[in-house]
Amino acid sequence: MENKNKPKSVTVYQSDQRLEIEWADGHVSSYPLEGLRRNCPCVICQGGHEHMGKGPDRSLFFGEPEREWEILEIDKIGNHAIRIHWDDGHKNGMYRWDRLRAMCPCQECYPEQGGDF
Ligand SMILES: [Zn+2]
Ligand SMILES: [Zn+2]
Repeated sequence: MENKNKPKSVTVYQSDQRLEIEWADGHVSSYPLEGLRRNCPCVICQGGHEHMGKGPDRSLFFGEPEREWEILEIDKIGNHAIRIHWDDGHKNGMYRWDRLRAMCPCQECYPEQGGDF
């Protein structure tokens, strides 16, 4: 259980506007950048401490993006998270691996996406 949430590789495909993570178990997650930005887990983006408990909102990956995003830098935080520096200057969000895995928007992990994507 623990180990499948470890990444083998993290790649940003800027022109495709997505970030791809290959996990230790071979699963590949591909996150549209806007959904990833809007799922920023920091206290500001989540709307205050009282909202911190709620999980990621995967439906954010399937909307029409409002703009193009650029990832300037990705910092590793220990073994459990990454911090993403966005081109709007925001870099507070610590994306834990287990949270990223839990918000994988692929059809297998998120069958609710249905046919409208
Ligand atoms: Zn944030
Ligand atoms: Zn998946």
